[in-house]
Amino acid sequence: MVLPRQFIDELKSVVGDKWVVEDLVAIERYLYDETAPPVRPSASREIIVVKPGSIDEVANVIKIANKYRVPVYPRGGGTSLVGGAVPTKPGIVLSLERLDRIYIDVESMVAEVEAGVTLGKLIEEAEKHGLMFPAHPGDEGAYIGGLIACNAGGSRAVRTGVMRNYVLGLEVVLPTGDILKLGGKTIKNNMGYNLAHLFIGSEGILGVIVKAYLRLYPKWRYTATAVIPFNSRSSAFRTARKILSTGLIPLAIEYFDRQVIETSAKYLRVSWPIDIGQYYIMIVLAEPVEETVLVELELIDRVAREEGGLEPFVFQREDEQKNVLKIRSEIYSALKSSTFDILDTTVPIGVIDRFIEMVNKIEEKYRIWLPTYGHVGDGNVHIHILNYPNFTQDTLEKIRDEIYDIAIQLGGTITGEHGIGYTRKRYVRKLLGNTWVKTMKMLKYVLDPNNILNPDKVLPED
Ligand SMILES: Cc1cc2nc3c(=O)[nH]c(=O)nc-3n(C[C@H](O)[C@H](O)[C@H](O)COP(=O)(O)OP(=O)(O)OC[C@H]3O[C@@H](n4cnc5c(N)ncnc54)[C@H](O)[C@@H]3O)c2cc1C
Repeated sequence: MVLPRQFIDELKSVVGDKWVVEDLVAIERYLYDETAPPVRPSASREIIVVKPGSIDEVANVIKIANKYRVPVYPRGGGTSLVGGAVPTKPGIVLSLERLDRIYIDVESMVAEVEAGVTLGKLIEEAEKHGLMFPAHPGDEGAYIGGLIACNAGGSRAVRTGVMRNYVLGLEVVLPTGDILKLGGKTIKNNMGYNLAHLFIGSEGILGVIVKAYLRLYPKWRYTATAVIPFNSRSSAFRTARKILSTGLIPLAIEYFDRQVIETSAKYLRVSWPIDIGQYYIMIVLAEPVEETVLVELELIDRVAREEGGLEPFVFQREDEQKNVLKIRSEIYSALKSSTFDILDTTVPIGVIDRFIEMVNKIEEKYRIWLPTYGHVGDGNVHIHILNYPNFTQDTLEKIRDEIYDIAIQLGGTITGEHGIGYTRKRYVRKLLGNTWVKTMKMLKYVLDPNNILNPDKVLPED
């Protein structure tokens, strides 16, 4: 399909010549996302990039695309790990980068943000106003639109939830070009069905998110990060569960082992400051009063020791906390170049240690290392399948399928964070069933009768 000249001219008349990019070199970076290259879908070369500067322009661009039946690929920061942002068929990449306005309503503790604001910018703006956006789904270059479209999670979902829990209101451009306004700044709103939740997590196939009202929190003034070493992995997991059952709700509880964390430290050319233990849980505490943090640290120490935990390392100075959190958060980057695929399997927290034991059996069976770490506080574990050159693609996929099978067997899901995108489409029918697929396709048809919005993603072919 060659995009008609008339179509391109109409787009230019809406956004201006400068914001319709046809030059192949300039569009190159819009053709891929963060998905590991061995599993990333290939992009079409018949692509132009359109960069509207306002919500009305987005609506008009979509109207034109719908008229010409041209696929539209909404794009945020391009940090998808499942091929969600790759334009796989000829069409337009709709980059939301120019929709970057943000307003903080301090009194209502709400951020009014356009889709192209980055996570980093939102965090910074909230902090400037003495508030906090606690969610931290990994990459601060992700855009708010993309984070909502993927219902992103991250390590801090333990206390304040995933993106869905922050969204009070949304503005969405439908695939016909109509603008739908849902909710607003209120915490409660019972006017009709909560349609916003249909679009949160819809991965760009039902509508283009252009604006959101996001709940903010007061900035917790006192924080501490405790790292507890263990010699036994099951003790580490038992401790994490027990901490949660005390009623204490940390901002995050993360798990990793020595091999994984030292790989990250080496990548950053620093050293992991803890020389005891083979397995770790890292607990981030944040409270308005210092005494509360101290009481919580005591409680955590007691629970951990009862479960065989070694001497805990408590970091209270900001630079020390930043250092250990940085080493944790760069695990992904340290492993990236040798990764075949990164998983985000999630199981009920009660069986997370069984899940890891079963993953270990797979490691033994294939004599491989499956670096495993993640958000033990909500059962969400990242496993990297490394690109062992002596393994065929089929074998690596088989390993992935075996991990997926055990997650399902234990009552979990193959994705707690990254979504279905392109790479998980093949599992949808098997795991969610024909009725799910049929229902989703009916919804898609009602909203997008010409199938222009992010076609080729999420829903399997008939
Ligand atoms: C280092 C790293 C760490 C990460 N950590 C986490 C983590 O902890 N938790 C987590 O959940 N994810 C994580 N991710 C995955 C990724 O950051 C999230 O999926 C994020 O939500 C994607 O946002 P984005 O703006 O980059 O979207 P893109 O990659 O640009 O797009 C992703 C999908 O959303 C759609 N989309 C984008 N913008 C819009 C819009 N405005 N309207 C409608 N649809 C849209 C796209 O069409 C596509 O299907 C991580 C990724 C990286 C690279």
